[in-house]
Amino acid sequence: MPDREIRGEAEPAFLPYGRQEIADVDIKAVVEALVSGWLTTGPRVSEFEQAFAAHIGAGEGVAVNSGTAALHCAMRAIGVGAGDDVIVPAITFAASANAVLYEGATPVFADIEPDTLLIDPASVAARITPKTRAIVAVDYAGQPADYDALAALAKPRGIRIIADACHAPGAVYKGRATGTLADISCFSFHPVKHLTTCEGGMAVTDDAGMAAHMRRFRNHGIGSDHRSREAAGAHAYDMAELGFNYRLPDVQCALGLAQLKRLSGWVEARQRIARLYDDALASLAEAVPLKTHSDRTNAHHLYVVRLMDGIDRDRVFSRLRADGIGANVHYAPVYLHSHYAKLGYKPGLCPAAEAASRQIITLPMFPAMTEADVRRVVGALTRATA
Ligand SMILES: *Cc1c(COP(=O)(O)O)cnc(C)c1O
Repeated sequence: MPDREIRGEAEPAFLPYGRQEIADVDIKAVVEALVSGWLTTGPRVSEFEQAFAAHIGAGEGVAVNSGTAALHCAMRAIGVGAGDDVIVPAITFAASANAVLYEGATPVFADIEPDTLLIDPASVAARITPKTRAIVAVDYAGQPADYDALAALAKPRGIRIIADACHAPGAVYKGRATGTLADISCFSFHPVKHLTTCEGGMAVTDDAGMAAHMRRFRNHGIGSDHRSREAAGAHAYDMAELGFNYRLPDVQCALGLAQLKRLSGWVEARQRIARLYDDALASLAEAVPLKTHSDRTNAHHLYVVRLMDGIDRDRVFSRLRADGIGANVHYAPVYLHSHYAKLGYKPGLCPAAEAASRQIITLPMFPAMTEADVRRVVGALTRATA
């Protein structure tokens, strides 16, 4: 039987900004897991952890039930706590900064490079103080941040780097893969990301001690689980710290294992679609694609263009939506959310981020997009910006 695709969108005429691919091999793997006797904390968890970490090129993987949980685990493993500052780029999904708040520490927002929207090392340098404990590097849209520049700031001061690589599995920085560029790297398996487990995430690291700590933290702070106690014929366990239940079920790990086999092909498909966009947009002066630095590759979770100053982005957004194009915006600066305003963050902190966030628009990007889809989007964008 040929692989069947189940499309995430019911409306065929609407082109969403992202869409998962679920094939018969995925369904078969999930059903097998469902009837295997292990719904959660079974053998598929470590199988998925090892397969994903090996694919990335990292020593250890810790599977959790969201990318946000992976970031929280990373904060705990690094020892971020009350009184610490953690530098986070202003343009990212709120979870990158929320994980800092979960541990009682303070997110300090760094500005971004206007042409890539990546964290700007010069802005990071200006925000480092003796309180700085860690830097969260976000591989925005799928392009790795400048890890060498960040490490040059962090290493001599004993500051840790956490990669929020949720956009970038498969991207390469100076010949090194994302997921191997920081002390801990975090991935998300939400349906719009490269690979999905419905909800899910993974923290990868080469540090066995931090991996063990994250495995305990995702399991209420308890060092053993049901399966290991059964194997040891023991009943006693100890809760050594206040952890959370961040476990990723076996059924979802089965989906992740089936999806992982297609990850490299999906990254290539996204890169091919990005090249089609780049070519088609070359003659449209009103919209400039974000730049990818020549020393790295972009895994293209998102395809983002920056509209010329003076163009009303929200009008372009509405026109694209009316034309059946699922445009989106990633992101408003995190500190402008009302929760952060309540914590005392004020507009003006990161001027480049604030300016960019008013001019960016995300175009549809997913592996099954065709060349005709790209032409349709660029045609709609040309009309919307006219
Ligand atoms: C998706 C995402 C997350 C969080 O992932 P979830 O799995 O949705 O919790 C964190 N950071 C960034 C940049 C993301 O895109």
